[in-house]
Amino acid sequence: MKDSKMQTDIQTDPRYEFDLFVIGGGSGGVRAARMAAQRGAKVALAEAGGVHGSHGGDGGLTGAGLGGTCVNVGCIPKKLYSYAAHFAESFEESHGFGWEGAAPTLNWATLKTNRAKEISRLNGIYGQLLGDAGVTVILSRATLVDANTVAMTDGQRFTAKHILIATGGTPFVPHMTGREHVLTSNEMFDLPTFPKRLLVVGGGYIACEFASIFNGLGSLVTQLYRGEQILRGFDEDVRHVIAAEMRKTGVDLRLHAGVVAIHRTALGLKVSLEEGGTLTVDDVLYATGRVPNVQGLGLEALGVCQSADGAVVVNEHYQTNVPSVFAVGDVTARVQLTPVALGEAMVLVDHLFGPPAGKTARRMSYQFIPTAVFTHPNIGTVGYSEADARKAFGAEFGAKFDAITVFKSEFKALKHTLSGSTERTFMKLLVETATDRVVGLHMVGPDAGEIVQGFAVALKAGATKTMFDSTIGIHPTLAEEFVTMREPVKVAAPL
Ligand code: FAD
Ligand code: NDP
Repeated sequence: MKDSKMQTDIQTDPRYEFDLFVIGGGSGGVRAARMAAQRGAKVALAEAGGVHGSHGGDGGLTGAGLGGTCVNVGCIPKKLYSYAAHFAESFEESHGFGWEGAAPTLNWATLKTNRAKEISRLNGIYGQLLGDAGVTVILSRATLVDANTVAMTDGQRFTAKHILIATGGTPFVPHMTGREHVLTSNEMFDLPTFPKRLLVVGGGYIACEFASIFNGLGSLVTQLYRGEQILRGFDEDVRHVIAAEMRKTGVDLRLHAGVVAIHRTALGLKVSLEEGGTLTVDDVLYATGRVPNVQGLGLEALGVCQSADGAVVVNEHYQTNVPSVFAVGDVTARVQLTPVALGEAMVLVDHLFGPPAGKTARRMSYQFIPTAVFTHPNIGTVGYSEADARKAFGAEFGAKFDAITVFKSEFKALKHTLSGSTERTFMKLLVETATDRVVGLHMVGPDAGEIVQGFAVALKAGATKTMFDSTIGIHPTLAEEFVTMREPVKVAAPL
């Protein structure tokens, strides 16, 4: 169905060609451009990577492509590969249910081809959605010239009343000897040869997800993390449980570990380790964080405020210190998640052009943002970690907890009574003792992301533990455990 313009009462400023010029065709940029155009605004969007994206070599285009990081080199291909990787355990676990025969083997080329086809289809859909909404799409890198002018690499210039920076982020790789040999998540989806031995450096979302995925697909994976435990910022119990589960699946996870140097040899990449010794692998993935995509944007010349890591600084209306310039999504380096970039874009459009007819302007709340890590098994989480709740970290959101009642459950899922798998499922609830309100919900287990999404609505709505208890479970499921946790393990005082 074609998008229709819903409102056309926008006061266009005749001094400018466009009401809004969006730089970046990713999650935030596309959403803002489409919504603004539907509201009746005259909108243009520039995407540096062309329609399908390129990391160099494609006529000078370098960028993610229409749909941005999430569609091209992030959430979507990552989740497709995660599905692919889960088949390995399914084949193994099927024997206990009576299935016989040897496990099939992975054809890496088929997986890559099918992924590329699907991403290409999505690129096309994004282009069509923008076109149908009336957005002028310019496949070029854009630079800010002044507060209302943008220049393209071919020299074209456009003026706009408002400019939105939605240029996302890019992988960060620290300096070390042999840095030229390492890969980032951008390259992992299209490796010419499947890595039999893979070293993953980092302990965040990407490192853990890719360690799990490539382990599932058949690589021998070693993961090095510099700190005490992976996934800093997540609940301590969750971190320990997922580390144990990942090790059980075969990931050789090493803590307090790092790389000194990497050299190419006839046998592969020889990695000298901080803890001594070497490791020879086929590929090394550095998943050591992402930095805002601001290089060459012209921010310094225009005097747009940036934080120390380059992130564009914005106020509550996503406005920079240059009043006509706005920014949303990863380039602001706040919460780097697709639904957050989408939410920010919609709030901004309501702010600039008014809400849709009959609706009130949307507001963005950063409280109780659910998130999942697609490790094997998954992590799903919403609300406070135990440590944050106890540290009255909640004060940032106007909440201060006196004491937290903690409920935990760890068990073997029904499926594994026959599958032979030793995987454990872990669930945890944090309840504000004084009000009975559930302020944290965490899970490590199959489909945790799917399960936690629903519970996130309950937490946003202020559900109490009593409401959880009075909710009838769906039997037999894993999720029913969240409404049947009766005995607290402790009442924790503030830290
Ligand atoms: P992006 O989507 O990065 O879009 C920015 C766009 O701007 C790009 O297309 C780029 O080419 C373009 N651009 C940059 N500079 C210019 C310029 N000067 N001119 C024109 N165009 C330009 N989030 C989740 O919620 N769930 C997940 O499962 C998930 N998995 C991820 C997996 C990986 C491997 C990665 C890397 C990220 C993942 N994320 C996930 C994060 C998510 O992808 C980002 O939060 C989201 O894409 C941010 O959207 P954005 O619009 O801010 O930027
Ligand atoms: P993260 O910030 O999540 O993790 C970076 C990791 O690299 C941390 O473990 C960090 O360690 C480590 N690190 C940083 N610098 C160095 C260094 N110099 N040497 C060694 N290790 C280092 O970043 P990611 O790249 O994993 O992901 C970026 C963001 O993308 C995520 O934060 C998330 O918002 C989003 N994302 C979301 C996904 C999802 O929703 N499922 C999936 C993938 C990405 P330390 O903790 O000690 O600082």
